[in-house]
Amino acid sequence: MTSSLLRAAEPTQIPDQPGLWFVFKAGELLLKDDLPLRGTAEVLDGLEPTFLLHLGSFENTPILACELSPDIALPEGWKAVSLRAAISLLGDPLYGVAGYASQALYWARTSAFCGTCGHTNGPLRQDLARTCPNCGHVAYPRVSPAVLVVIHDGDQILLAKKPGWGRRYSIIAGFVDPQESLEECVHRETLEEVGLEVAEVQYLASQPWPFPHQLMVAFSAKFVGGTIRLEEDELEDAQWFHFSQMPELPPPISLSRQVIDAWLASRKGQLQTTQ
Ligand SMILES: [Zn+2]
Repeated sequence: MTSSLLRAAEPTQIPDQPGLWFVFKAGELLLKDDLPLRGTAEVLDGLEPTFLLHLGSFENTPILACELSPDIALPEGWKAVSLRAAISLLGDPLYGVAGYASQALYWARTSAFCGTCGHTNGPLRQDLARTCPNCGHVAYPRVSPAVLVVIHDGDQILLAKKPGWGRRYSIIAGFVDPQESLEECVHRETLEEVGLEVAEVQYLASQPWPFPHQLMVAFSAKFVGGTIRLEEDELEDAQWFHFSQMPELPPPISLSRQVIDAWLASRKGQLQTTQ
C-alpha cells in the first residue's frame, strides 16, 4: 500500500462526501483532463460499477475505486489509459494510489469464493483480507515477489532479453519460489537463466509493480564463474556489456532501469576518481 493512503475501516462502506475516484474499465484507468474523477457518486454519470470500494483517504479526501463493465461507452471527456501510461500522467504519489486501487479491485474480483471449500467469501476487511463464513479460512491479497539481479564483473554488466523485446535488454529477473529466500532466488535464477554463478549478493531497492500484483526486489551480485548458457524457453539472448556501450534499456520508471543507471553511475564515478 502506498504510504500516503490511510486505509478505510470498511472498504464496502461508501462515504457520502466527495472523493477521488479510481475508475477502471477492461483493466484501463479512466481519467478526465488527465486526472482521476473527483466528486460524489454522481461523477459516475449513472454508470453502474461492478465493484465499488472505499479504500481510505489520501490528503483527507476519500479514495474510491470501482470497475465498470467492459462494454459500456465512455461519457464525453473521459479517457481510458493503461496503468503503465498513468505513471507519467499522474506521477507520485497519485500513481501509487492508482496501483493500490488496481490491486484491490483485482483481489476483490478474484477472491469472491473461498479457495478451500468454495463457499461465497465474507466481505473485504480493512487489510483487504476475506474470511470464509463456512470454514473460517482467511485469504489475503496476493503479492508475488520477484528478484532483479545486477550481475557485474568489473566494468561489465550481464544483460539479457526475452523474445518480443526487440533491441531492449534488461537484467535477470524471476519469481521467488515457495520456501526460498530472496538471496537463494538470486542464485537459482542466475544459474537457471544464464548458467552463471554469483556471490556477494546485496539488496539494492524494491518497487511495487501492480501488473497485476508483483513486488520487485533488486539485488547486485558479483560474477564468480561459468559461461553464458541460455535458458532458451525464457531468453533470446544474454551478453556482457561494457558500461560505456549500453544497449537499449527498460523505461526509467522501472526498478530494473533505476538499478542499471545506479550501477553505471558508480562505474563512471570510479573511473573519474582513478584518472
Ligand atoms: Zn471456506
